Amino acid sequence: MPNKFERTLVILKPDAIHRGITGEILDRFEQKGIKPVGMKMVKLSDLILDKHYAQHRGKHFFEPTKKYMKMLPVVLVVLEGLDIVKVVRTMCGPTDGRNAPPGTIRGDYSAGISRNIIHSSEDGEAADREIKLYFKSTEIFGYDKLDADFYYDVERGE
Ligand code: ATP
Ligand code: MG
Repeated sequence: MPNKFERTLVILKPDAIHRGITGEILDRFEQKGIKPVGMKMVKLSDLILDKHYAQHRGKHFFEPTKKYMKMLPVVLVVLEGLDIVKVVRTMCGPTDGRNAPPGTIRGDYSAGISRNIIHSSEDGEAADREIKLYFKSTEIFGYDKLDADFYYDVERGE
């Protein structure tokens, strides 16, 4: 069965905004042939962060992480591609920047687990939930690239 085009959510966190590297990070995805289909800047609230990080409620890093995520606005991006959830998680690297290999976004830009530059959805279910949490359907745009067949074998989904 051919692979399917999927969507995932990334959040360029306040440290990425402050350091002025949002363009560089987006460029990595675009260089890889990954398509942005939704993008906006927002200031996150406790209300939305409680939903976003519900699985971490009660953990020692829950409140500090919420505080960090409210330091500045963030940039929310919906990305589309084959196996995109896994591909983007791999490009971001492990949670702790000090353990993340060079070449990954966290490996190249993050000096610690509490300031790790980027969020990406952990699986397809989380991606669907998170995209719905932050985007209205009218804020996401499907479009074709004329040269799509030079990024993927579109017909075979490979
Ligand atoms: P994200 O969900 O942001 O993509 P992740 O899936 O790699 O990151 P999670 O386990 O979901 O990691 O943790 C969510 C966020 O909480 C992390 O990105 C980080 O900002 C923070 N965090 C996680 N573990 C710790 C920790 N031990 N100490 C401090 N902060 C942490
Ligand atoms: Mg996570």
